[in-house]
Amino acid sequence: MNRITYFSLLIVLTFALLRCVNAPVPVPVAPVENGQGVESLLLKDYRPVSVYKTVRTKIEKAKYPVIDMHSHTYALSEGGIDQAIKNMDAVGISKTIILTKSYGAAFDSIYAAYAPYGDRFEIWCGIDYSGYDKPGYGPAAVAELERCYKVGARGVGELSDKGSGLDKNGNPEDKLHLNDPRLDGLLQKCAELGMAINIHVAEPIWMYLPMDEHNDGLMNAFDWRLDNKPGIIDHQGMVDILASAVRRHPNTTFIACHYANLSYDLNQLGELLSALPNLYVDNGARYAEVGPIPRAASDFYEAFQDRIFYGTDMGHDVDMYRMTIRQLETEDEHFYGHDQYGYHWALNGMGLSDEVLRKIYFENANRLFGGPNQ
Ligand SMILES: [Zn+2]
Repeated sequence: MNRITYFSLLIVLTFALLRCVNAPVPVPVAPVENGQGVESLLLKDYRPVSVYKTVRTKIEKAKYPVIDMHSHTYALSEGGIDQAIKNMDAVGISKTIILTKSYGAAFDSIYAAYAPYGDRFEIWCGIDYSGYDKPGYGPAAVAELERCYKVGARGVGELSDKGSGLDKNGNPEDKLHLNDPRLDGLLQKCAELGMAINIHVAEPIWMYLPMDEHNDGLMNAFDWRLDNKPGIIDHQGMVDILASAVRRHPNTTFIACHYANLSYDLNQLGELLSALPNLYVDNGARYAEVGPIPRAASDFYEAFQDRIFYGTDMGHDVDMYRMTIRQLETEDEHFYGHDQYGYHWALNGMGLSDEVLRKIYFENANRLFGGPNQ
């Protein structure tokens, strides 16, 4: 494609995206044949196929048993738990952590649905924030956390703060963030009960950048954009809040999911992990983001191999699991994951060592939370 054609493609894309803000999702365009219609091909419809005659590994199963530290209640609405287990077995997932975000009766019913499947799942609960902006908040939420623990919850999550307060819950004049003293009692109780907290802060950096021709994560960033949300705490501000909460509660274990959304700056993430021994990360739903930087990513995994958990956060599809395993285990280069990820980048495998794989797949989880392979 020459430069003019590429430029016009970007222009078309930009206008198409702007037009689509309040419009229904457009019907996919017909396939382009022999250059017909290529001038109006939208970037979102671009599906390149890698032509390189390099190593292509067909992954069936992970090398070692895997604990998936980041999943949700997908099976309850899609396909059922039996099917989820079949898929897990097909690729070597021995256990899945279900981050329910729930408490009260909702938590109890989710717990009851998974309980018959024993060790294949571990169920984590949420936090009850109701009344956090009124005097006296705390003891009732702590009591509910303890009740969930007694039912069977073994951790807390996924809490989420994309800059407008935890779980978008509440008073716009009084946003609650993870380092708020009103959460001290809860986070202290988590430490006492040995419940780790899975916390999502911010979003990948491309969501904060201008939605223009320079945004190299444009395809996916636009769907999740935050650049048009005035008043939210910015990316660095959210990372700082995470660090201050982790520092404030040294006895509580925190898992910043999605690499704390610092996949674009693994050096900064490394500094955080070095400074904060009770901080861990999971890699859920951030495989595309490290696909273009396999050497930097594998250096990061090597250096922080005791602090990273495998996670998915993308359902229970067999092809999805296999793509994540391929990216971690192989050194395959320049392949695409159009069916799995929103970005349009080519992916590259990290080729992690057996030692690192064992740690991120199950040893770190068992060391922290107990388990048969301790
Ligand atoms: Zn999640």
